[in-house]
Amino acid sequence: MKAIVCVKQVPDTSGKVAYKPDGTLDRASMDVVTNPDDLNALEAALELKDATGCEVVVISMGPAPAEGMLRELLARGADRAILVSGREFGGSDTFATSQILAAAINRVGIGLEDVVFCGRQAIDGDTAQVGPQIAEKLHLPQVSYAAAIKKEGNKLTVKRMLEDGFMMLSVETPCLITCIKELNQPRYMNIKGIFECFNKQIEIFDYDALKDDPLIETDTIGLKGSPTNVFKAFTPPQKGAGAMLNGDDAAVKLASILAEKHLI
Ligand SMILES: Cc1cc2nc3c(=O)[nH]c(=O)nc-3n(C[C@H](O)[C@H](O)[C@H](O)COP(=O)(O)OP(=O)(O)OC[C@H]3O[C@@H](n4cnc5c(N)ncnc54)[C@H](O)[C@@H]3O)c2cc1C
Repeated sequence: MKAIVCVKQVPDTSGKVAYKPDGTLDRASMDVVTNPDDLNALEAALELKDATGCEVVVISMGPAPAEGMLRELLARGADRAILVSGREFGGSDTFATSQILAAAINRVGIGLEDVVFCGRQAIDGDTAQVGPQIAEKLHLPQVSYAAAIKKEGNKLTVKRMLEDGFMMLSVETPCLITCIKELNQPRYMNIKGIFECFNKQIEIFDYDALKDDPLIETDTIGLKGSPTNVFKAFTPPQKGAGAMLNGDDAAVKLASILAEKHLI
């Protein structure tokens, strides 16, 4: 049995945000972090490993520096790490990204008891499309927004978080679950894991490794295979500082400002 976790390295959006002239993110000039929801997805997989002894496989699609993140995930407890990387995959939108990740998961192989975990959403692209698209392409049942998961045999009971409440769903394995931060508290790396992760191999799945999968065609991956294009990207202008109105006549001052703007 395997738990396969898709993890994305994302720009640290709490720092400087930089763009290339074509409107895509200039990732090389920004600090990077592991996408927060994906750490909850990894924790869910590690809890499954604690309970069942299953193998935890982490997969990330991105440039070579994502290897460092994968080593950290091994130090947290993952057993196997795969970096999906190749020039042919560059410029992929969510359609093409999920196409490539689904092919990578196919290559790992999905058994009857396996579970694929994704984060709900990546903090840079913010679409929450990749997890559900992978499920569609692999013909797997999916449950999104998982806030609690219980496994009994080949069934998972998943508490799914909605805006105004919860939904309890039962799903059979193999399946795909997208995870939110309410699901768990991600564990830290441990000393043994940190030492051991440097001896583990990061497997590379490049274009040649995936090209025989029917999902991989030149017109379904990379910039050419992406049906969406970034038209423009920009940081919205900062709003001006607010004004504080103090004193007994604050209400009068506020009324006069609103009247001046013809709002009252
Ligand atoms: C025309 C165009 C060009 C683009 N060019 C580039 C580019 O050159 N380089 C680039 O990096 N981005 C590029 N992007 C952005 C890229 O499409 C998205 O970053 C990517 O498809 C993931 O979408 P998202 O961030 O909305 O993920 P979401 O759908 O919000 O992610 C949900 C979950 O899916 C999984 N996931 C998503 N992406 C990955 C991944 N890469 N590896 C493993 N798991 C993943 C994670 O578990 C994540 O939590 C481009 C987008 C467009 C439209």
